[in-house]
Amino acid sequence: MRLLVVEDDKELNRQLKESLGDAGYVVDTAFDGEEGHFLGETEPYDAVILDIGLPQMDGVSVLEAWRRDGHKMPVLILTARDRWSDKVAGFDAGADDYVAKPFHMEEVLARVRALLRRSAGHATSELECGPLVIDTRAARVTENGIHIKLTSLEYRLVAYLMHHQGRVVSRTELVEHLYDQDFDRDSNTVEVFVGRIRKKLKTGMIQTVRGLGYCLAKPEDG
Ligand code: CA
Repeated sequence: MRLLVVEDDKELNRQLKESLGDAGYVVDTAFDGEEGHFLGETEPYDAVILDIGLPQMDGVSVLEAWRRDGHKMPVLILTARDRWSDKVAGFDAGADDYVAKPFHMEEVLARVRALLRRSAGHATSELECGPLVIDTRAARVTENGIHIKLTSLEYRLVAYLMHHQGRVVSRTELVEHLYDQDFDRDSNTVEVFVGRIRKKLKTGMIQTVRGLGYCLAKPEDG
């Protein structure tokens, strides 16, 4: 899952990127409203963490512009603690949730998990697909109760497919959601990773849909 953090406080931006990265997400960062607005318009993010008080273009205007242009990704806004009006303006502009500053990083992580699973139509932080279970809190995957050791990129790939299970996901879509903007993207590497994950899983859960991409689905009965 690929996230965007828009926060002008350099230290806070760094902490968010690091914590979200440790939690298994790919994170792009922007330090002002214009840069953030541009990235949100041009890159496909699974969720955005958006500060309200930003230079160049404030967070509410950024969010309004995205929504006006039809961008529906979940957005978590960061507001000043005593500014209730920021929350109201943020929700009216299309925010999905908020955290007031100062906050505990754990709360941001929990809210991001909730936004991601809700936008994918799941009700809990454990996602299940037949024998495969992913615990998004611990970034852990099990198959028939047995822990599957995955590298961080393999985990991201499985997590993305699990959030979109039952649907065909193209290689291009995977590349766009697994790597940050600076990564040298090559859709062939996705095939290599899928091959490695298939070797680690006992059940043939990741199916190749010829010419289209991949689909994670429950094994056929019988
Ligand atoms: Ca700020």
